[in-house]
Amino acid sequence: MKITDHIKNANGKTLFSFEIVPPPKGVGIADLYENIDPLMEFKPPFIDVTTSREEYVFIEKGNGLLERKTTRMRPGTLGICAAIQHKYNVDTVPHVLCGGFTKEETEYLLVDCMYLGINNIMALRGDAMKGEKYFEPAKGGNHYASDLVSQIQDLGSGKYLSGEIVCEEHNSFCIGVAGYPEKHIEAPSMNYDLQMLKKKVEAGADYIVTQMFFDNQKYFEFVSAARAMGIDVPIIPGIKPIATKKHLQLLPQVFKIDIPEMLISEVLKCKDNRDVREVGVEWAIQQCKELLDFGVPVLHFYSMGKSNNILKIGREVL
Ligand code: FAD
Repeated sequence: MKITDHIKNANGKTLFSFEIVPPPKGVGIADLYENIDPLMEFKPPFIDVTTSREEYVFIEKGNGLLERKTTRMRPGTLGICAAIQHKYNVDTVPHVLCGGFTKEETEYLLVDCMYLGINNIMALRGDAMKGEKYFEPAKGGNHYASDLVSQIQDLGSGKYLSGEIVCEEHNSFCIGVAGYPEKHIEAPSMNYDLQMLKKKVEAGADYIVTQMFFDNQKYFEFVSAARAMGIDVPIIPGIKPIATKKHLQLLPQVFKIDIPEMLISEVLKCKDNRDVREVGVEWAIQQCKELLDFGVPVLHFYSMGKSNNILKIGREVL
C-alpha cells in the first residue's frame, strides 16, 4: 500500500515507522531481523531501507602498489526490502539515489520494484563521493532529487527511457523526498532550500521525511514555512535518539544540525555511553510527546540497525 494511503487510513492517528541500514557486504541479515523483531510490536506500516553510494577502496597489488577500485560496501537494498516484506508482511521503502546511477540503471531498479510489489520509493540525490568536495551525477544520471522524482513519475505513467509503453495498468509509485528543517548543507538560504523542496513536490513527490532534529521548534517552523509556500503534502519528522558522546560532534558535522544547549549539557554530565543512551531516550520521548500533540502523521525513527532505544521510546509514547 502507498505511504499516503497508510496515512489517510490512520484517520489522524500518528503512525510509527523506522529506517534501517543494510549490513556491510558479507554480513548476513540475521542481526537486522533481531533488531526489527521487537519493533514489530508497534505495527509499523512501512520500513525504510537506506542505500549508500559507491566508494573507493584500495587493493594491495603485492608489489607495493595499490589499485583503486569503486565498490558498494552495503549493497542489497532491494533484496532486503523484498526479504522484509516477505517475512513481516509490511511495506518497505527503498531509498533510491541519483549519485552513482545512470538513468538506465535507475529504470531497471524501478522495474524490479514493480515485480516485487514495492510501490513506495524514497527519492534522494545522495552526497558527494567520499574524498570529493561536490556532488557529481553519474554520466547519464539524474542531478537533483527533483529529476529523479520526474523519472519515477514518468515511469509510473508508462514513459520509459526508450519511449512510451502503452499498457492497461501502470504501476505508479508513491514518492517520498527529503526535507531539512535546519536547511540542507549546500543550500545558500532556507528560503532557497524550500523553493527546491517545492520543486520536488511539483515534480510529483507525495510526502516529505525530514532530516533529524533535536529541537522541535525547528520542525514546527519548517512545516509552517513549507505550508506558507504551498507545499501541502505530509511532512514526516525524522527522529534520532542520541546514543554516544561522539554524536555531539559527529551529527552537526555530518548533517549540519544544531544540538540544543540543554541536551549538550546533559550528555556531557554522563560518565559513559550507557548513560548517554538514557539521556538520548529521555530527550526523544519528550520530543515525541510534543510531536504527537502537534498531530504529526508518522513518528519516523533513524534506527541505524539498533532497536533497544527505539523500543523504550515507543513503549513510552505509543
Ligand atoms: P536535493 O533535493 O537534490 O537537494 C540537494 C541540494 O541541491 C540542496 O541544497 C537543494 O537546495 C539544491 N537543489 C535541489 N534541487 C535543485 C535544483 N533543481 N537546482 C539547483 N539546486 C537544487 N543519503 C544516502 O546516501 N542514502 C540514503 O539512504 C539517504 N537517506 C536519507 C533519508 C532522509 C529522510 C534524508 C533527510 C536524507 C537522506 N540521505 C541519504 C542524505 C541525502 O542524500 C543528502 O542529504 C543529500 O546531500 C541531498 O539529498 P536530497 O535528496 O535532499 O537532494
